[in-house]
Amino acid sequence: MHHGFLRLPHSTDESAWGAIMIPITVIQNGRGPTALLTGGNHGDEYEGPVALQDLAVTLRPERLAGRVIIVPAVNYPAFRAGTRTSPVDGVNLNRAFPGASDGSVTQKIADYVYRSLLPEADVVLDFHSGGKTLDFVPFAAAHIQHDKVNEAACFAAMTAFNAPFSVQLLELDPKGMFDTAAEDMGKTFVSTELGGGGSATARSIAIAKKGVRNLLVHADILDDALATDRSQHLAMPGDDCYVICENDGLFEPMVDLEFPVREGQPIARIWPLDRTGQAPLEYVAKRDGLVIGRHFPGRIYMGDCMMVVATPSENPPSAPSEPKR
Ligand code: CA
Repeated sequence: MHHGFLRLPHSTDESAWGAIMIPITVIQNGRGPTALLTGGNHGDEYEGPVALQDLAVTLRPERLAGRVIIVPAVNYPAFRAGTRTSPVDGVNLNRAFPGASDGSVTQKIADYVYRSLLPEADVVLDFHSGGKTLDFVPFAAAHIQHDKVNEAACFAAMTAFNAPFSVQLLELDPKGMFDTAAEDMGKTFVSTELGGGGSATARSIAIAKKGVRNLLVHADILDDALATDRSQHLAMPGDDCYVICENDGLFEPMVDLEFPVREGQPIARIWPLDRTGQAPLEYVAKRDGLVIGRHFPGRIYMGDCMMVVATPSENPPSAPSEPKR
């Protein structure tokens, strides 16, 4: 077991030959697959960092067959600042993949993850939550992919994580994401959205701690029993799962997370900030489903993602029965 740092040279006025020191733990025992576990890709999301700090001190090497690489705060400058993007260069790590070895600090982090950590991994878990501006029902996620064999492996890993919800996630903006880079490299990749609002709860942290151990058991790295509770599978069949705000104003949600909604049902109103006596603008659900995400702050702006609706589904896609030729 090794606890140390990824040392990223960073020459500044304060430290001419200085470095950004990103904490990392590597635990290895015997032969077996490698898991790469990351949190703090966005610096204002906390279930991952807490669960991975805990894992780094509680995982017993003698129970492992393989290797576990733990990076609780992969965008460490953002994590230190408590911000989504890096205060050093303003870059969102989860839009910076595959990164650039001669780029800015965040692009260099992406490059290191992409070229040095990712190729070592068989299974990857990247913890997310909503951060300061979004809140989610607790879910593990995987994506539709061209490679149906890898897609099925990702959905199986998502199911093993066993969050209260398991979502076939349709991304608004997949380009540059860690998820897309890992999937394109053929890795078994699971992401999460476990809560949000810029904090974590006892419940969301418990889900994170259980899920990461379940994933290691599923990957045949950790010798333990799967902890299995009920998980509701959900799908996002189209862009109309997202309701985007087209005004600035005062946000009145009319439904909360986990509420079932019908197409056409009013789900939010936006009030003017600067006058009374004016009717609010009303937004409706564009399909039947369950509210899985919402804008968090009371102020809302044009272009903000206001609500996310997903559709209950029986099962995630499974592997094609015939191997691809
Ligand atoms: Ca996030």
